[in-house]
Amino acid sequence: MNNVITIDGPSGSGKSTISRLLAEKIGFLYLDTGAMYRAVALAASRKGVDLTDGKRLGELCRSLDLHFDIDESPARLFLGKEDISEAIRSPDMDMLSSKVSAVPEVREAMTGLQRKMAEGVKLVAEGRDMGTVVFSDAKNKFFITASAEIRSKRRYDERMSRGESVSLEGVTAKLCKRDHQDQTRSLAPLKPAQDAKVIDSTRLTLDEVVNKILDHLNLESV
Ligand code: C5P
Repeated sequence: MNNVITIDGPSGSGKSTISRLLAEKIGFLYLDTGAMYRAVALAASRKGVDLTDGKRLGELCRSLDLHFDIDESPARLFLGKEDISEAIRSPDMDMLSSKVSAVPEVREAMTGLQRKMAEGVKLVAEGRDMGTVVFSDAKNKFFITASAEIRSKRRYDERMSRGESVSLEGVTAKLCKRDHQDQTRSLAPLKPAQDAKVIDSTRLTLDEVVNKILDHLNLESV
């Protein structure tokens, strides 16, 4: 598969911004798969669906009218007519999305949807299991890491800039808990694909990471 570039990594590694910048540079679309799991979590919590009830969650996923408006940059995510781009970014949705993402029926529905979204387009697909599961045939795979300290600091700055009152300790604890959940789940755990190029962004700017990716991209296969 050469129409998809995969970018995976833990929370706060900078992979969303990096994926967006890369996609803009090379004229690909950008797919934020974390936003899709967040949308499932939001819909489930609004409908009071038990997050351990795989059957109901699967039904919910299949009934969701989810779409990205890619005319905006960054793209906006809609649930039906409602723009949920901000609602899915709350701290509650951080943890709930991680919880629903471990449910097999949810993963199956989202994996199918993501593969459909890649049909006939060129895509930078970002998430946790893009290189290992969803687009395991992709020729260009990247895994972005950074130290837990810097990732927590980035998340803390992001929350503060949104006017939220948070402590660095609290942000760090939640980020580590979520990463642990994502790494230790049995289905599609967060890990680099064997053939992924791992890039540590701890001491790099976003542009430097994008340039490293561009250096490694096998453009002939794209
Ligand atoms: O990337 P983001 O932090 O928005 O993702 C929210 C959650 O969605 C992650 O913590 C993870 O549990 C889940 N996720 C996933 N697989 C993906 C993308 C996100 O399990 N491909």
